[in-house]
Amino acid sequence: MLMETKKLTKRFGGLTAVNDVDFTIEKGKINAIIGPNGAGKSTFFNLLSGTYIPSEGQVFYKGQDITKRPPDKIARLGVARTFQTNHLFEESTVLDNVIVGHRLRTSSNLWDAVFRTRRFKFEEKKCRDKAMEVLDFVELTHVMDEPAGSITQEEKKRVAFALALATDPEVVFLDEPTAGINPGETEGLASLMEKMVQRGITVCLIEHKMKMIMKLADKIMVLNYGEKIAEGTSEEIMNNQAVIEAYLGG
Ligand code: ADP
Ligand code: MG
Repeated sequence: MLMETKKLTKRFGGLTAVNDVDFTIEKGKINAIIGPNGAGKSTFFNLLSGTYIPSEGQVFYKGQDITKRPPDKIARLGVARTFQTNHLFEESTVLDNVIVGHRLRTSSNLWDAVFRTRRFKFEEKKCRDKAMEVLDFVELTHVMDEPAGSITQEEKKRVAFALALATDPEVVFLDEPTAGINPGETEGLASLMEKMVQRGITVCLIEHKMKMIMKLADKIMVLNYGEKIAEGTSEEIMNNQAVIEAYLGG
């Protein structure tokens, strides 16, 4: 087990977005979270990555309590995430986007940057090499010199993966990585997630596309109104009465 939550709860005023959720993320697996709109999935991710502070409960990473640690500290432990919408500099090349994105996450101090010290140049080279490596991994080498604004929606999603991978993460959180793309492209991204796992990266993903998730995920948790209503393999989830009712709006 890589990560664990215990009775994790997040309230926004009178609304309980995540309620008492116990969850484990298994190392080297594809761990999925599904559930209707507004179920609390993105909020749950935000709690795990430190973006939101829990109202109650705890988050553990490799047995260590990381509840209430700030996002940058959690990121440095090896936790990376992509966001539902990705922001790219449309005029800059794909490669520069990844270099800049990576620099923003790792960067040395302003002094180094302004005076272009030797350390800065060394880091710049390292960032560039890393960007080339992750672009190769996500199969975007052929468009790396194109403006980011000119690539397809699916390629933009691959850039988001590349940005997450550039930090050499142990676990990657993907919030609806295949939203807004067609079935063929979805297959391509699913293969990419499998490739990540083969490389030893743990995946935790939120997904709406049931067919894909049932095929891809090793383990699924279902959230509904902030509560965990089921957890298990695809087979177990598909035959679970509470899940069927939640999805049929019962
Ligand atoms: P999902 O990702 O499953 O669609 P969310 O986690 O985005 O659901 O939202 C769960 C609930 O929490 C929703 O009712 C949403 O309106 C609410 N919510 C999410 N973020 C905030 C916030 N920052 N402030 C207030 N309410 C929020
Ligand atoms: Mg969401």
